[in-house]
Amino acid sequence: MNMAAQTLEAQASIADRVQVLRDTFANGRTRDLAWRKGQLTRLEALINEQQEAIAEALYADLGKCKTEAWTSEIGFTLSDIQHTRKHLGKWSKPRKVSTPIAAQPGKSYQLPEPLGTVLVIGAWNYPFQLVLAPVIAAIAAGNCVVMKPSELASNTSSLLARLIPQYLDQEAFLVIEGAVEETTQLLALPFDHILYTGGEQVGKIVMRAAAEHLTPVTLELGGKSPCLVDDDANLDVTAARIVWSKWMNAGQTCVAPDYVLVTPAQKQPLMEALTKALETFYGKDPATSKDYGRIINDRHFARLQGYLDNQTIALGGQCDEGSRYMAPTILDNPAADSPVMQEEIFGPILPIIEIANLDEAIAWVNQRPKPLALYVYSNSDACVRRVLNETSAGNVCINDGFMFMVNSELPFGGVGNSGMGAYHGQSGFDTFSHLKTVMHRSFRFDVPLRYPPFSALKLSLLKRLL
Ligand code: NAD
Repeated sequence: MNMAAQTLEAQASIADRVQVLRDTFANGRTRDLAWRKGQLTRLEALINEQQEAIAEALYADLGKCKTEAWTSEIGFTLSDIQHTRKHLGKWSKPRKVSTPIAAQPGKSYQLPEPLGTVLVIGAWNYPFQLVLAPVIAAIAAGNCVVMKPSELASNTSSLLARLIPQYLDQEAFLVIEGAVEETTQLLALPFDHILYTGGEQVGKIVMRAAAEHLTPVTLELGGKSPCLVDDDANLDVTAARIVWSKWMNAGQTCVAPDYVLVTPAQKQPLMEALTKALETFYGKDPATSKDYGRIINDRHFARLQGYLDNQTIALGGQCDEGSRYMAPTILDNPAADSPVMQEEIFGPILPIIEIANLDEAIAWVNQRPKPLALYVYSNSDACVRRVLNETSAGNVCINDGFMFMVNSELPFGGVGNSGMGAYHGQSGFDTFSHLKTVMHRSFRFDVPLRYPPFSALKLSLLKRLL
């Protein structure tokens, strides 16, 4: 068979497999709340029973240690399932709104209904959680789901492809493994929603493809997330929290602080506090720490190494190509037009940028694309208020790293270049639902005011009523 014929056959098989899900949705199985809760419970069983295998795959892909694997992937997903199952009954009830006098007697409400068959495209940095957290929301909302894990985290991808059919309803859930070719084939098909996690460039490809079918999209993108450290911040706590959120997963976190803005007076004390916290966390030689991760692949390793060229390295900088180890690295005041300050770093390098004052820090943030996350460490209410009122970001955390992630009540998503739409908790359920507007009128009191023939009296009464 030639290449073109092979591609056609593969396309047909992906389309056929997705069609099975469409048929399942059409027969109404996923609308049943008990079925949805049952599938969530099956997913919970998958995670509980396969914890070891999941942790091994994450270690093989990213050198992710067991504790990080638990907190940011396995445990995170389990608690998401539990929160979702607990609140599913409430979320799926009609949401009443008031009815104006002109529509009385009558009732008004929004009725959540599932969208249909949806596509979830995951990224490689949290390869388990970033596929399954949207899937939990999509199951809860009553959809069939096609999952496309990232090929770069190949161990986690193949584990998901093996386990999902063992635990979940095979006619409602499908894992398609692969890279650009397979994703392109999927994107050619009509879906009822696409949730994509990844970079901006592919986000545009996804949105373009979705436009062909008028498919709504949620784009969970990234970008440079600034971290402002005020002069009055508690430096020890600030440093510990910056180090935790920056160097978890070796900096390969979409909401990691990308760089720090600090006044010249505070820069040196902050650098010293960061250095101390790093040594406490990872020891004198982080290469030997079992808690410090590795870079996903050679391409990203080379990209990160390139960021160090012509920079003043205040700490770290050691690299080992063979194991894709890059030490926690702090750069002293790189130029704003250098590559490390132009692109999302997505690795273990933290630039510390001197900024004269809060006015300049706010202007700096506002001159750049809207970030996915913005961090401010300050004891001053006035400073916090100004940052909140005068800047825009998908998510803000005051005096900590990405702790907003642990609160399922908080929607998570970007704004502007960092993405559109949100999920987690009820916002995820809503993302994968259509909130159908319903007005239920009574046959009683059919006041003829709005019916022709019209008159001046009818018009003046209508003007008062509407
Ligand atoms: P990636 O390379 O894993 O790509 C993401 C997905 O897009 C993969 O499933 C991949 O197969 C698919 N893809 C890649 N090229 C494609 C193409 N040409 N056509 C169709 N599909 C294609 O991930 P990435 O883009 O390197 O991810 C890193 C980015 O993701 C960073 O910017 C990071 O900030 C962002 N991110 C955001 C979140 C969030 O929740 N907002 C989470 C993690 C990562």
